[in-house]
Amino acid sequence: MSSLTIHANSHDYEVIIEEGIRHELLNYISSDYQKILIITDDKVSNIYLDDVISGLGNEFDPHITIVPAGESSKSMKQYERLLDACVEAQLDRRSLILALGGGMVGDLAGFVASTYLRGIDFIQMPTTILAHDSSVGGKVAINHQKGKNLIGSFYNPVKVIYDTGTLLTLPAEEIRSGYGEVIKHAFLSSPEWCNDLFQVSVGNLSSEQIKDDLMKGIKVKAGIVESDEREKGIRRYLNLGHTLAHAIEAELGYGKITHGEAVGIGLWFALRVSQRKLESSLPVDRYAEWLKSNHYPVEILKNLDVDTLLKRMKWDKKTVHQKINYVLLNQIGAPCVVGLSDQEIQTDLNLFIK
Ligand code: NAD
Ligand code: ZN
Repeated sequence: MSSLTIHANSHDYEVIIEEGIRHELLNYISSDYQKILIITDDKVSNIYLDDVISGLGNEFDPHITIVPAGESSKSMKQYERLLDACVEAQLDRRSLILALGGGMVGDLAGFVASTYLRGIDFIQMPTTILAHDSSVGGKVAINHQKGKNLIGSFYNPVKVIYDTGTLLTLPAEEIRSGYGEVIKHAFLSSPEWCNDLFQVSVGNLSSEQIKDDLMKGIKVKAGIVESDEREKGIRRYLNLGHTLAHAIEAELGYGKITHGEAVGIGLWFALRVSQRKLESSLPVDRYAEWLKSNHYPVEILKNLDVDTLLKRMKWDKKTVHQKINYVLLNQIGAPCVVGLSDQEIQTDLNLFIK
């Protein structure tokens, strides 16, 4: 079993990563809880809900609410429905919300937990690789029509229980999506880890490798978040690759590309800009090869329009005084924030997209 303690302002919490842990959940959940509400989505529930319920044993008779799979469930409508479920189940301060699913369920259930009765305990049970990123760091949110994650709070789970056995059923694009964030964490921290990742094919990963990468990724994220929980300074480094990624996601329409695939492409751009602007020595070609051999959808770049992308990047919340604040790398493991003019980004994008 691998475990790690995360230090947050509100409380410390443990992340436990182990294959098959869903079958023995009872050992990891305090018997002080009098009620449990499991929140999950309809894809995950089909595969894992029975295991989780039996993993809780006879001790708990959990309430269950299932939302439709997909980003559109991070909505006011599902939020309200879940609050109704909390009220109906008469959850109180001795109750627990168990978020079983990927980042969508984690963000939604976490936001419910943070606001119901001004906050009750919740546990994250991530079932995607990407959720190594979303389950730690304490950001929970739902979307508004006008933008992603506009309504949310900072709220930490009491525990993260990560069963790597659940990752075996992820479709290929969700594995790529998860590894987009994994390799971001590698670029933020370690050339050796990057090199190791360049050797792997994400379609053919061993359970051990995944577990190792999740633990390393969580350590990097936790290290950054612990010193800057509310995103005033270095937490911004976690946005590496994200300015272009968000523009690509918005331009293609949500659901057309996974978040982490867009991040994978955004990282490539960030490496290229770092090379030009900072003269950083970075394995740009090696990384581009890795993206292509792992079938990240780089061909979508051909259909994108530079001016529209630029406009969208400026809309992204990181724009200050006309310049776009961009996270770049002086080298692997040494990120920095640099203001780039429209002109610079436009030129870089033109070169990148060609
Ligand atoms: P997701 O939760 O929508 O899961 C992706 C798809 O995989 C869904 O269709 C889901 O039903 C399915 N799925 C989940 N687990 C599965 C399994 N084990 N087997 C088969 N299918 C499975 O998406 P995600 O990529 O995990 O997370 C994306 C969300 O996370 C976004 O809403 C994003 O905003 C959020 N996020 C939050 C943070 C944060 O700090 N809070 C960080 C990154 C991302
Ligand atoms: Zn991300």
